[in-house]
Amino acid sequence: VEKSAQQPKEGPVRKPSQPAVFVPVDRMPEIQEARLRLPVLAEEQVIMEAVRENPCIVLCGETGSGKTTQMPQFLYEAGYASGKGIIGITEPRRVAAVSMSQRVAMEMNLPTQVVSYQIRYEGNVTTDTKIKFMTDGVLLKEIQKDFLLQHYSVIIIDEAHERSVYTDILIGLLSRIVPLRNKKGLPMKLIIMSATLRVEDFTDNKKLFPSPPPVIKVDARQFPVSIHFNKRTPMEDYVGEIFHKTCKIHRMLPPGGILVFLTGQAEVHDVCRRLRKAFPFRRSTTDTGKEEETFKDTRRFKKDKQKQAVALPRIHLDNYSALPVDEGDEDQLAGVDDDECGYEGCELDLGEDEDEKADPSIPLYVLPLYSLLAPEQQAKVFQASPAGTRLCVVATNVAETSLTIPGIKYVVDCGRVKKRYYDRVTGVSSFKVSWTSQASANQRAGRAGRTEPGHCYRLFSSAVFGDFSEFSEAEITRRPVEDLVLQMKDLNIDKVVNFPFPTAPSGEALMAAEQLLVSLGALEEPPHIERAKLSCPVTPLGRAMASFPVAPRFAKMLALGRQQDCLPYVIAVVASMTVREIFEDLERPAASEDESSKLAQNKARLMQMRRLWAGQGPSLLLGDLMVLLGAVGACEYAGCTPQFCETNGLRYKAMVEIRRLRGQLTNAVNAVCSEGGVFVDSKMAPPTESQVICLRQILLAGLGDHLARRIREEEILDPKWKNGYKTPLLDDPVFIHPSSALFKKPPEPPSIAVSNREGLWIPQLLPQYCHYGPPLETPAPWLCPSTGTIRSHCTSTFYRVAWPLPAVEKAYPEGLDRFKL
Ligand code: ADP
Ligand code: MG
Repeated sequence: VEKSAQQPKEGPVRKPSQPAVFVPVDRMPEIQEARLRLPVLAEEQVIMEAVRENPCIVLCGETGSGKTTQMPQFLYEAGYASGKGIIGITEPRRVAAVSMSQRVAMEMNLPTQVVSYQIRYEGNVTTDTKIKFMTDGVLLKEIQKDFLLQHYSVIIIDEAHERSVYTDILIGLLSRIVPLRNKKGLPMKLIIMSATLRVEDFTDNKKLFPSPPPVIKVDARQFPVSIHFNKRTPMEDYVGEIFHKTCKIHRMLPPGGILVFLTGQAEVHDVCRRLRKAFPFRRSTTDTGKEEETFKDTRRFKKDKQKQAVALPRIHLDNYSALPVDEGDEDQLAGVDDDECGYEGCELDLGEDEDEKADPSIPLYVLPLYSLLAPEQQAKVFQASPAGTRLCVVATNVAETSLTIPGIKYVVDCGRVKKRYYDRVTGVSSFKVSWTSQASANQRAGRAGRTEPGHCYRLFSSAVFGDFSEFSEAEITRRPVEDLVLQMKDLNIDKVVNFPFPTAPSGEALMAAEQLLVSLGALEEPPHIERAKLSCPVTPLGRAMASFPVAPRFAKMLALGRQQDCLPYVIAVVASMTVREIFEDLERPAASEDESSKLAQNKARLMQMRRLWAGQGPSLLLGDLMVLLGAVGACEYAGCTPQFCETNGLRYKAMVEIRRLRGQLTNAVNAVCSEGGVFVDSKMAPPTESQVICLRQILLAGLGDHLARRIREEEILDPKWKNGYKTPLLDDPVFIHPSSALFKKPPEPPSIAVSNREGLWIPQLLPQYCHYGPPLETPAPWLCPSTGTIRSHCTSTFYRVAWPLPAVEKAYPEGLDRFKL
């Protein structure tokens, strides 16, 4: 094990700020033995010396080297939790916070009252807690309450390489908090932990750390990993290809665990199901002799070819920050490409699932792994697989750096990752599968060489790999930052542009965020339009909004939701809008004619169900949100069972997630409520007429930038635009989605004469969207505030809007006082 510690810049030698005490820990012998095998253990002295001598250090180590589980223990033993402060450690993923706290408690033989976790509104922290695992969001909230974090003596930021937005913000904040604490004589340490990926954004960033923190590198034992590129790059059915490749590996290659990287839960389950079917645990004994022959033949052939492959140049991955890829053309790599190994002639028939017959010798022990998997299911990957089986873990990129699975020799990498993308125009986010980065692909490959030399099979060509970006971008550069800007304003950081971001978001993104927050009333409007809009202070409404763990639009709805007992409905609406795809897709193509007629029948029934949920009379005007509310209400009355969901076209998992979110949001609302609190029963009566009116106003106030109005005659440039709507954000019209409750019968535009109360809503709630000046010659017909799913032609994304009129003269007699907080 080698160390390479970059020494801190010259300067006065700091006195150790913490006495070198030793707090004994009573570990089980087998735990102690396992610990001693971890690479970080060999570096304990070096690490702890660096911690004592520097306010901040960066600890880099290969995944599985023991950073997360051991660093808190080193600090605990060195007395960092014996004084007033405790040890805090942040994780970007909830599962990591929970499972790592349990693991560390177990290793230290301490109860969970001492080694605890806190995630959002759930946790087991007590006054006896000494080591606290938490999500980065939780620590950010704590900084809002106590900027100096006086409760902590050390903060460890784990998985900093993931560059999650909250992690980035925390590092920026802590770069200021730590010197402040030390100046006040309340010493504090910051430890940034990262897999061996780029850390220059933290260390070579003068704005962040004027004197760069030392970097301690822990080199894990890493065996060579041979990389096998595919000759072709499957673009369509890569999941199918992954399955076939895994089957081949299992059939043809010597023992050793297989780790498969896919992009999401659904893919993971799909491949698990197919693998289990292809290689059932209890092999049927009816395999024909003929098939056995084929297997043997293929294997013999494969073996010969393998010998050949060994002689070809291997790609060693001992340093993941540099990329030792043979830059030659694909033919040079052909020898190590197993599709190119020349066994096409006797390749197995890789047709349908049914054709994938069981390997006659070893059963495959297939386990899924993704972040929302139940902890006890997750723990299975750490346990030994049943004797005589081969382990095959089908995972999302949680297995890339957060969790280390023992015994993996083969990695199958689809080369893709699911990322959240934001449509800058509509502000709507969606998940898309895209290529991963070279650094991530190498990180994945490295999982194969933990215990012995391994192989990584990439489902893409070396040419495609060459086009991957070198590193994954920091999340902060890929998403709108309105929620962060609001959080920062709430921390009284008014000039957000000056914040020491490890990677700063673009000026445009910051500007857009500030504008949205101003329009939502969360920030004070700047007095002059010319002045940079980047220093608007937070309003009381903004402070209330900042206390909710949801996007500002939704936060505003929650902040306004306390009227007429609407809060439970607002909570349900926000929860359901945060969860994707609640309804089964009624438009999905059928596999056969028979299925097609069944689907059509079912569709008619389910559409009727949705109309029922949409309610009658005034509640209809809530549009698709009433359908959501109706679905949640009906499902909860039925006890939220899988059967109910199936017969009524709802996705069971989504409904369970909504229930969980409703609970969390209720806790969040109650936590900031001074008087009383809401009690949310999972069951919910339909809203009354006046509540529906109130809900529409609340939705309008939150989704104001998603307003749409009927297209005007003179605006119609294409006959297809006839039933279109215009939004302030898009040039092309949008259309009501066929699945929307409003598709057949959009609400009738009321008279433009604004005697109607509703006509006042927009100018009063959203004056910034109104036309200031004389009324338009041909006033646009408008809709009452309702919500619907809209299809936009230009972006082909679907998004929900509250609509109607931006064009009303600004002359309003009364304000809606009840919206004032
Ligand atoms: P790092 O943070 O450097 O990636 P960890 O501290 O997470 O490393 O892991 C160190 C070792 O502990 C790994 O070999 C891993 O397999 C093992 N480990 C972690 N969590 C568990 C668990 N819940 N059960 C069994 N082994 C675990
Ligand atoms: Mg870790």
